[in-house]
Amino acid sequence: MFSIMTKTIIDAVFPRFCVRCRADGELYCAKCKSEEVLTRVKVACGYCGASSMSATTCKECMRPERFISVHHAFYYGNHSVRDLIRAWKYHFDDSAFLELKGLMKREGMIDTLRESGFNAIIPVPLHRVRKNERGFDQAEDLARFLAEELQLPLVYALKRKRSTKAQADMQDHNRKRQMKSSPFVIAGSGSTKQSIHSLGYKRILLIDDVWTTGSTLHAALQALPYGLSYSAFTIARR
Ligand SMILES: [Zn+2]
Ligand SMILES: [Zn+2]
Repeated sequence: MFSIMTKTIIDAVFPRFCVRCRADGELYCAKCKSEEVLTRVKVACGYCGASSMSATTCKECMRPERFISVHHAFYYGNHSVRDLIRAWKYHFDDSAFLELKGLMKREGMIDTLRESGFNAIIPVPLHRVRKNERGFDQAEDLARFLAEELQLPLVYALKRKRSTKAQADMQDHNRKRQMKSSPFVIAGSGSTKQSIHSLGYKRILLIDDVWTTGSTLHAALQALPYGLSYSAFTIARR
């Protein structure tokens, strides 16, 4: 009884509408889920879009400070994907993350990542204060899910030094400027840097939720030791 009441109250305060057809009830109704064809992000160089095997960065775009491959599941322009991400991130709706995980599995994204042969996973964390405000860190949750699915070690190697202004409110050029000096450092003592090397994590996958300009992921990359190969993954790409 109590749980039914609680659920009723929660539903009254946070009514759910399907992200696609807006029908009252579920966040992504069964009909829409079965009908909607989601376009996977084209496998290409993440920087120039040149066709490339396994999302590898092309020769022209390759620089020491860039990822060797950049992977995304879906386009942020897809309304269902965008609204599910928003419900998860800003309305703290766990069922939205559940739907996103289901979609990534259904559309074969997990298999693609498995075939890419990564050795470890590192989330790009929120600042501690922001995580406490929000109650969770979406990149960490996503990284944890992928580490389980791919049976890979999850390494909390990064820490955010200072709280950056909410990026959703910023223009692209401001966003880039803010990231110029990296807000990320290696977490814990200097030994984490050592352990990334000594544990032999040769191909590392960095995780964030959305790729807008890629500046957050590149700032995170700056803080990590040289000599390993780094790739990036986000659920969506703008
Ligand atoms: Zn629907
Ligand atoms: Zn390129």
